[in-house]
Amino acid sequence: MTHEPYDTLAATYAVGALDGQERADFERHLADGCDVCEAILRESAEALAALARSGPPMVPPPAVKEELMRRLAATTPARRGAARPRPLVWAVGTAAAVIAAAAFIGTYVAARYEAQLGVMARESAALRAKVEREMAVLREQTDVYANAADLLRDPQTQIVTLRGLGPSPEATGRVVWHPVKGGYVFVANLPAAPPGMAYEIWTIGDGAPRPAGLFQVDPSKRGAHRIDPVEGGKPVKVFAVTLETSTGVPTPQGPMVLASAK
Ligand SMILES: [Zn+2]
Repeated sequence: MTHEPYDTLAATYAVGALDGQERADFERHLADGCDVCEAILRESAEALAALARSGPPMVPPPAVKEELMRRLAATTPARRGAARPRPLVWAVGTAAAVIAAAAFIGTYVAARYEAQLGVMARESAALRAKVEREMAVLREQTDVYANAADLLRDPQTQIVTLRGLGPSPEATGRVVWHPVKGGYVFVANLPAAPPGMAYEIWTIGDGAPRPAGLFQVDPSKRGAHRIDPVEGGKPVKVFAVTLETSTGVPTPQGPMVLASAK
């Protein structure tokens, strides 16, 4: 049996304000064993005892506490085996106690709903953050494709083919490259970089390989990334991709996974 419909009933039951069919249903639910309801009854007993200590003297504190403890004692063995819980009769004797009980139920239920609303708010904030992250990634990708398409209209733009090497021979890539504006690399069939690692792209001219950006691939093993132009528009002879630590390195250290034909 699920606990769901008994959430509010438990608090009401705890102060003895539940009767008729609802009370019978709830006691059957308790007898079946419900940790949540038992916890609520226990919390209620403690809260009521505290209320009784701090509340108006007309509320009979020992009676309230004893009765709650007796109910807990009566219902707990029932779930371990044979004995059915004995129906308990507990009349709330005074108007003051009824008022205190009502106030307690109100506060208790409100607190529980506030807690639930808090959980929902945290969950929806997390969801919103996730959607925003995904949107940012999509926007970035859209920008990459739009800018690459713009570059392709320029007659100076070249397309360079990259071939998979070493650890990922099936990987392929294309670099859309403009000598002044820089370009974009598009890769496919490249496995995701291991945790803490990233792919780093290099432009190689006459001097040492120059780091030109870090990228990751998506679950479909594709990736796209901007390549910064080389200062002074110096020619690039080779484009290469290596696997490096995710913060990048100034000179290539890891295995080369893609390179353009020389
Ligand atoms: Zn329950």
